[in-house]
Amino acid sequence: MTTNEAAREADWRRATELIRSAGTVALACHVSPDGDALGSMLGLGLALARTGKKVVASFGDRVFAVPRLLRFLPGQSLLVEPSAYPAEPDLMITFDASTMERLGLLAPHAGKAGELVVIDHHVSNTRFGTVHLVDPGAASTTMVVDELVNRLGLPIDREVATCLYAGLVTDTGSFRHSITTPAAHAMAGRLLATGLRPEEIARELWDRSPFAYLRVLGTALGRATLEPDAVGGLGLVWTSVTRADRAAEGLPYDEVEGMIDVVRRVDEAEVAVVLKEDDEGGWNVSTRSKGAVDVARACAALGGGGHSRAAGFSSALSVADTMAALRPLLAPEGSRS
Ligand code: AMP
Ligand code: MN
Ligand code: MN
Repeated sequence: MTTNEAAREADWRRATELIRSAGTVALACHVSPDGDALGSMLGLGLALARTGKKVVASFGDRVFAVPRLLRFLPGQSLLVEPSAYPAEPDLMITFDASTMERLGLLAPHAGKAGELVVIDHHVSNTRFGTVHLVDPGAASTTMVVDELVNRLGLPIDREVATCLYAGLVTDTGSFRHSITTPAAHAMAGRLLATGLRPEEIARELWDRSPFAYLRVLGTALGRATLEPDAVGGLGLVWTSVTRADRAAEGLPYDEVEGMIDVVRRVDEAEVAVVLKEDDEGGWNVSTRSKGAVDVARACAALGGGGHSRAAGFSSALSVADTMAALRPLLAPEGSRS
């Protein structure tokens, strides 16, 4: 065993010991949770709650609401508002958060936790806890949780499996992205064997919207811009969706989170960007690359982060100024000076 493997094994042992001996476990995932963040948290939460432990789970958004498309996930009764979260938890576990800041309002709680177990799969994870289960080779955080649940010897029933599967299909783009490993498919096979309904999960995650979404999508796509000369000549496509666009149709912010999946299909662009204005006037920026550009690096330079082909950041600047800051950072690998 190499030193690294030994250190990783020590982390696994420490994490399982801490969880086994805890009476109460406080769970937190990153703000504006996606299927991987919420699925990994609720999956472990449900598995632990069934052993008789007290489990509280939350995320630190100022306005606390589960995104509409994730309300089908089992285990929602474990959720508490950040205001009801323990101020100094004995044992706190974080999910899919690469930095302490990604915990939003719950970052101070993490800072005061007796033990902080960080469960994640971002290469950029800053190892901000006391114990780290961080596997950049894992397609989703739910893959790390799957191993943890197995090491704890806890059963994975259909509800736990639904949570874990939701994270797996979210982060692999339904097994389409390059991160789709044999291990990801093997895990999916084990989860499917519990009787979960893949077609129902897919429909909840991707195949339903209020009519208002079509209207707002039309507006946003109508102002999409193709810049063939950007990204070292490989092309950039981008658009924005404002709170005024959404207000005109009565569409909540979380409904536009996935708009990047439409924009990124453009053949003429290596990089796709969607700027999404939230209800407070701040901007959340989604970036995607096809492989020639490391968008995680570009987003990290602007205070965000993510994966090499899917990353994001927040911006308080105007759309034009945000794009002016981002554009020069989108250089293809190898062309950077
Ligand atoms: P999104 O475009 O919101 O789907 O985000 C894509 C990926 O970028 C996520 O999986 C996160 O890892 C990362 N990400 C998005 N926003 C941020 C942010 N503000 N800070 C750090 N990472 C982010
Ligand atoms: Mn995530
Ligand atoms: Mn993830």
